[in-house]
Amino acid sequence: MSVLAIDEYEHDLHIQAESLFSPLCCALCEHKKLYRHEIKAQLYMDLPIRGKRVGITVLRRRFRCCRCRRTFFEELPDMDEHHFCTRRLVNYIQQQALRRTFVSISDEVGMAEASIRLLFGEFAADLSPDWTSTPITCLGIDELYLLNQYRYVLCDVKSHCMIDLLRDRSKETVIRYLQGLPRPVQEHIQVVCTVI
Ligand SMILES: [Zn+2]
Repeated sequence: MSVLAIDEYEHDLHIQAESLFSPLCCALCEHKKLYRHEIKAQLYMDLPIRGKRVGITVLRRRFRCCRCRRTFFEELPDMDEHHFCTRRLVNYIQQQALRRTFVSISDEVGMAEASIRLLFGEFAADLSPDWTSTPITCLGIDELYLLNQYRYVLCDVKSHCMIDLLRDRSKETVIRYLQGLPRPVQEHIQVVCTVI
């Protein structure tokens, strides 16, 4: 990205930018001859800087293929085009949502609370613990109010990584979950930490 302008306000930073690279071929049929079609301004939110919300307006180019005649936008590999924010902001939000309210994150980054909730829901749904590649010796079990109810959260205490999110915080759920772990995984766990 090449920065074209920066405007600083009391609570916000607004950056205008454009991509440095042109596509080499049509994204649909790989033909190499392309015409510039139009430029469209798209706003993507980014990590806050010095406590200010950061919005990047990308002047995004659209091309038309000479062969298949279809149009397509240039790729923006650092951006999450579904949520209109940078990929690093997605990671930041998903980690912060484990310990802060969605409202406070929404205030900080300038995205709607519903978007924060959606991003965290995607993060939780994608968790697929790989117990075998990193044997857990110290298992942490904590409870968090997430996605409309209290749930148990399992973490690896040594690496501070979240391992899995259970559907509620009932004793039956956690017992069934732990009993369902493969025998070598159960035998590896030496310590379980939880708050009573
Ligand atoms: Zn084409």
